[in-house]
Amino acid sequence: MTIWSMFARVDIPLGRSYVLQSDLRKAIARRRFELHYQPIIDAARGETVALEALVRWRDPNRGLMSPDTFIGVAEESGLIDAIGLLILEDACREARCWHDRGYEIPVSINVSVRQLDRGSFVDHVFRALALSGLPPTSLWIEITETCIMRDVDAITAMVSTLRSRGVRVVIDDFGTGYSTLGRIKAFPADVLKIDRCFVKDLPGGTVDKAVVAAIMTVASSCNMEIVAEGVEHPAQVTALQELGCDLMQGFFFARPARASTINFESLSKSLV
Ligand code: C2E
Ligand code: MG
Ligand code: MG
Repeated sequence: MTIWSMFARVDIPLGRSYVLQSDLRKAIARRRFELHYQPIIDAARGETVALEALVRWRDPNRGLMSPDTFIGVAEESGLIDAIGLLILEDACREARCWHDRGYEIPVSINVSVRQLDRGSFVDHVFRALALSGLPPTSLWIEITETCIMRDVDAITAMVSTLRSRGVRVVIDDFGTGYSTLGRIKAFPADVLKIDRCFVKDLPGGTVDKAVVAAIMTVASSCNMEIVAEGVEHPAQVTALQELGCDLMQGFFFARPARASTINFESLSKSLV
């Protein structure tokens, strides 16, 4: 299915978000989305293990829009299918460019639940990989915890197909949904991201540390790597390392930036 056929099928309801939806349609047609990349760092080795792609919409009137202002409307209207496909293609293409320059850093892409509802999602991933020439092992797919609670069997099957070809699967924002720690053991993922709401209270007291330690214990016994999100202060880095968590992401290390402005040479050097 092409972007254009998905675009034509979208049924936009009238309502308060009508103008936003209409502008989003134009933005899709004119490819007005851009990806900003934020490193996921191994603080012990001082290396970047992946770059997370975070979408922004550059609108001529509204300026640069963050995903929180339009992803919800895009999901409700179904426009997320077309936007998600653009993101997938652009991220794979841009990652292939930095690979070609000698920086073989994987790219991590956020996916909405609505995209996963489509049976064609896995095909879209493999087509974007084939078009760009990016190896599947250099692609991570981030699925929120809330997503994995929906059609568990269908999503588990999709994720297993992706993983069997080498794509890594990440559970994003862990701790913000309604799943239990026990639930993640049934879900085949490679990486679990601890939501920043847990990181913000670190170093904090013994309870704050115990919560993070409990998530880490379960995730690592399921053979998942753990990334702490939203790291802003050196004291949080220390607390996380004391808990045995070396993979981190946050403003302390770097803010999201266009690939063209990233100094890839420095990404492989210690930032701590
Ligand atoms: P996320 O995937 O959990 O991404 C992390 C968000 O936290 C990003 O916000 C990032 O800029 C922000 N962040 C990173 N480090 C820090 C920090 O140290 N402190 C604080 N306060 N924030 C930090 P952003 O880019 O606004 O994205 C928000 C959410 O929008 C993302 O959360 C993700 O759920 C969604 N999103 C972003 N890009 C995409 C996309 O391409 N597709 C889809 N479907 N959703 C996306
Ligand atoms: Mg994410
Ligand atoms: Mg997150």
